[in-house]
Amino acid sequence: MGVRYLFFLMLFIFSFAHSEERKIAIVGAGPAGLSAAIYAARAMHEVVLYTGHRDSQLLKTEQVDNYIGAPEVSGFNLMEKMLSQLKGLNIELIERNVVALSKEGHRYRIEDKNGDVRTYKAVIFATGSVAKTLHLENEDQLWGRGLSTCALCDGNLFKGKDVVVIGGGNSALEEALYLSRIARRVYIVHRRDSFRGDKTLQEALRKQSNIITCMDSEVVKLNQGNGSLTGIELISKSKKKRSEIRVSGVFYAIGSMPNTQCLDSNDFKDILGSGGEVVTTKWGVVTDMPGFFVAGDVADRRFSQAITAAGDGCKAALEMDAYIGQR
Ligand code: NAP
Repeated sequence: MGVRYLFFLMLFIFSFAHSEERKIAIVGAGPAGLSAAIYAARAMHEVVLYTGHRDSQLLKTEQVDNYIGAPEVSGFNLMEKMLSQLKGLNIELIERNVVALSKEGHRYRIEDKNGDVRTYKAVIFATGSVAKTLHLENEDQLWGRGLSTCALCDGNLFKGKDVVVIGGGNSALEEALYLSRIARRVYIVHRRDSFRGDKTLQEALRKQSNIITCMDSEVVKLNQGNGSLTGIELISKSKKKRSEIRVSGVFYAIGSMPNTQCLDSNDFKDILGSGGEVVTTKWGVVTDMPGFFVAGDVADRRFSQAITAAGDGCKAALEMDAYIGQR
């Protein structure tokens, strides 16, 4: 009896350890991570998906009109639809943030917020990025009520209205040009007296009669009325003059930070770019670290769209599948 018990116990431990060894991890549950999870699970991999707090940027988007196949859907509902597609697939959800990711031999060691540690033969890292904000009073109440970080996502809500874009890089210039075709007037507020963005974009900006530039100016206050944004207050830095602009929408375009804080700085230092992003070597998803793949905004500093992130998730899962097949 004792010997049989021991045999079954060892068999259980062996098969558990063996199955643990076969698992792959996906970190992040935005469009990139969810798409990667679906592709990986359908390719018969045992997937562990770390969802974190589920605070994908898509959730902040009031209405999404440019995700093919899902017109006029809120960011929240689109995420719900994506999540519902995981049902019935071999995916273990861990609804906690990853706090540390490092290399352990050929495997990757992941520690979550509860201190649970597991190792994986491959990882798809899809933690996204977080848009920088000005940390002004009222910001928290005004997201989705006039305040946005994505003109492509929310621009259509401001048809014929006046809006402000804050920033002076390519994103700000592109967002201002995009919004100038929708809004009545677009103010672009930049803290210096020259734009950082490309000259061609600056030229296009100058030609657009409904774009008004406010250089050398800092936004110091977001005004609100009845729970919605009604305008901004800004200070011209050289003249020290304070003024107000009444607008219905404000778009922050002051850059973003890839969420790579949990990557061990020693193990990952060679694949992190100067802006904190993961640098890829192939297809926008393969890195110089075997078995470590990325998808979405954490590596993509160019497009930052839900649909491109979902596409990356698919590519990362297929590349991960090929990598495991080769091994
Ligand atoms: P970015 O190039 O870093 O520009 C951020 C802008 O926001 C800068 O003008 C900066 O001002 C301003 N800013 C930063 N912090 C601020 C603060 N606290 N208050 C006020 N202003 C602040 O970021 P991005 O425009 O998002 O572009 C990111 C990367 O993607 C860049 O490499 C860009 O070239 C690339 N991109 C390319 C394209 C394209 O090729 N078409 C389109 C979009 C983005 P300062 O200038 O004073 O620093």
